[in-house]
Amino acid sequence: MKKGTAHNCRAIVVGCMDFRLRSDIRKWTAKLEGGFDRLAIAGGVKNLPFVLEQVELSYKLHHICEVYLMNHEDCGAYGEEGTLKKHRQDLSFAKKIIKQKFPKLKIVTLFQKLNGNFVEV
Ligand SMILES: [Zn+2]
Repeated sequence: MKKGTAHNCRAIVVGCMDFRLRSDIRKWTAKLEGGFDRLAIAGGVKNLPFVLEQVELSYKLHHICEVYLMNHEDCGAYGEEGTLKKHRQDLSFAKKIIKQKFPKLKIVTLFQKLNGNFVEV
């Protein structure tokens, strides 16, 4: 990571816009020193082309080196199809696609429970 310029940050954090998640995401990201871009979008990685575009911008503009992809329990954007298996599949696919485009980025996939726990998946 380039240091010394105010316009760089460490990561982009991608997660659902669901208001129920906000305070837990805030607590979780408090440990991310170096700043991060935040993408809040219904369904987290569900709309992958849009997520990819935003990651690319974050990479170009702020020289990020880490990507955190978060989907969550009981996501309205997924509805009935939102099983843990489905979230796991979508997260790992998103990770794969981002990795292909940006091999140097560290990518972490997380599943957020409504009780505030984040599980690495
Ligand atoms: Zn959601």
